[in-house]
Amino acid sequence: MTDIVHWVDGAALTGSPTGWADVTNPATGRVTGRVALASEADATHVIAAAARASRGWGTTSLARRTQVMFAFRELLNARKDELATIITAEHGKVHSDAMGEISRGLEVVEFACGISHLLKGGHSEEASTGIDVHSKRVPLGVVGIISPFNFPAMVPMWFFPIAIAAGNAVVLKPSEKDPSAANWIAALWQEAGLPDGVFNVLHGDKTAVDALLTSPDVQAISFVGSTPIAEYVYETASRHGKRVQALGGAKNHMVVLPDADLDLAADSAVNAGYGSAGERCMAISVLVAVDPIGDELVARIADRTRTLLIGDGGRGATGEDASGKEADMGPLVTKAHRDRVSSFIDSGEAAGAKVVVDGRDVAARGGEGGFWLGPTLFDDVTPDMDIYREEIFGPVLSVVRVGSYDEAVALVNANEYGNGTAVFTNDGGAARRFEADVTVGMIGVNVPVPVPVAYYSFGGWKRSLFGDTHAHGTEGVHFFTRGKVVTTRWIDPANRPEGGLELGFPRND
Ligand code: NAD
Repeated sequence: MTDIVHWVDGAALTGSPTGWADVTNPATGRVTGRVALASEADATHVIAAAARASRGWGTTSLARRTQVMFAFRELLNARKDELATIITAEHGKVHSDAMGEISRGLEVVEFACGISHLLKGGHSEEASTGIDVHSKRVPLGVVGIISPFNFPAMVPMWFFPIAIAAGNAVVLKPSEKDPSAANWIAALWQEAGLPDGVFNVLHGDKTAVDALLTSPDVQAISFVGSTPIAEYVYETASRHGKRVQALGGAKNHMVVLPDADLDLAADSAVNAGYGSAGERCMAISVLVAVDPIGDELVARIADRTRTLLIGDGGRGATGEDASGKEADMGPLVTKAHRDRVSSFIDSGEAAGAKVVVDGRDVAARGGEGGFWLGPTLFDDVTPDMDIYREEIFGPVLSVVRVGSYDEAVALVNANEYGNGTAVFTNDGGAARRFEADVTVGMIGVNVPVPVPVAYYSFGGWKRSLFGDTHAHGTEGVHFFTRGKVVTTRWIDPANRPEGGLELGFPRND
């Protein structure tokens, strides 16, 4: 049993918690630690430390800040296996998948290593007679990052590398379900030479979140989580004068047109539907099969689904079989979540959807008390069913059959979410039309999980994102800085301004 406590000013702090939350290993069901739930006083203490540190860090040279970024990148790359092990032990995703999320986070660190170029402003000489104008982007001060359980390393890394490189101090409030990754990252920053207080971790629940949303010392909030909480965070933090980007839930549709490569489509549906046990905001949860390929596609997906190995995703023990083969899919994050997802399968069956592959009685290679649920495939799902309407966030893939491209697009666009979608086709014209027609932020063409690379920005539309700024890329740089424009006149003896009183509005000439 370990106690997981806050990290502030470069050291662990227990503070005066309102309580402690159990942290479990989902593959065994055993409690492995407990995490401190911050009181308001703890939050105030952490935010104050960040505010103090932000002053020195915001004026540290770009050269020095960049050196720290490179050092962090090197350390993280060298030791990512350790971090992946921590993620698997608390989240449950298999080790290779945890390594994958770290490598996508590393991309953002690498992007932020180029911060000097990204922060360059503009300069206009002689904008008006004897007048020059230049612009610059300066750090905000303290920024709060509130992250979900499903990517304990990658999601915080969508934000903090850019926030820190740009000269801000960070308070990260990770999910209480898998909090240890954040502390490991904090210690790594210290090793990389980041001054104490620039990266802090505040553990907790609503009390900690509310403190960040309302503190006058916090300038911006980056949130990722479920839609109701994203909406609450957006409204509350905006009301308290902060800039906010709040990324919410999803229901991602993969449309398969009749001319698609069905083997590629079936592989992609299985990978994107069941990878990380469906606990990805970019997971495919609805497959839209356009007539007449439905029967053939469902058969190919079902065949592949039945071959998946469900088990402990950790290294050693039960984590790998004698041949060293890792499980394809791990357990769900908590017992409560497993039971919720399982009850969705009951409800889909009761509503008349056809259960093609049933994950409820899965034989998993792992602890008896693990939160196991196998991959489940539904066919003949209709838009009125709960399993279609709700974000299940588990290994449940629903196939909806439609008669035409237009029907498929109408379905995608009628959905309240607009995070990701994909089209599978060999027709370039149809793909191009799809890209224009759908009201979704991230689109894949024969790519089922179209998470943009770090130098583009990640974000959905509709109820998948509140605010107007997406994560990372140049939008991220914009989010974590604010602009200044300076208009300058220097007295040049050869070209003195006329002077004199002139109360009219300044003109350009
Ligand atoms: P969640 O909304 O339960 O929790 C997210 C964060 O909010 C956590 O840090 C949690 O402690 C905090 N929180 C929870 N309840 C709160 C409350 N009442 N008041 C204030 N703060 C609260 O989400 P989760 O279950 O951890 O993560 C899964 C969800 O995140 C899914 O809906 C998924 O789609 C979404 N998600 C979205 C994206 C995206 O990019 N759009 C990425 C990853 C996850």
